[in-house]
Amino acid sequence: MTIEKSDEEWHRELTPEQYQVLRQHGTERAGTSPLNKEHREGTFRCAGCGEPLFDSHTKFESGSGWPSFFKPLEGAVGTTEDRSHSMQRTEVHCAKCGGHLGHVFPDGPRPTGERYCMNGAALKFEPGKSGD
Ligand SMILES: [Zn+2]
Repeated sequence: MTIEKSDEEWHRELTPEQYQVLRQHGTERAGTSPLNKEHREGTFRCAGCGEPLFDSHTKFESGSGWPSFFKPLEGAVGTTEDRSHSMQRTEVHCAKCGGHLGHVFPDGPRPTGERYCMNGAALKFEPGKSGD
């Protein structure tokens, strides 16, 4: 992590929904994010620190109700094992600010076979040529 802020600072800078997801490991309600329907070319950035996380070319329709990607940008995210809710899942967070983004599951499409199930509240979309 290269960005460290106090809880108070995050509270001030983020919307309540962003704070709930990024800093409290919350999950937004399925189907509520406008990013589910975002199909333009561009870059999905961390809503906490602005770091580019996903390229629009790796987004796919998972039908889960959350924006889904099969591959993050190189080095953009980190993972930890999450055993809460009596499930074993792999939690995904922004490598730069540590903000919680969602989970990754091994049932995604080719070529990676991974499904990064992200909270739209944790992302900001920037239309334009991707790749940053
Ligand atoms: Zn971040």
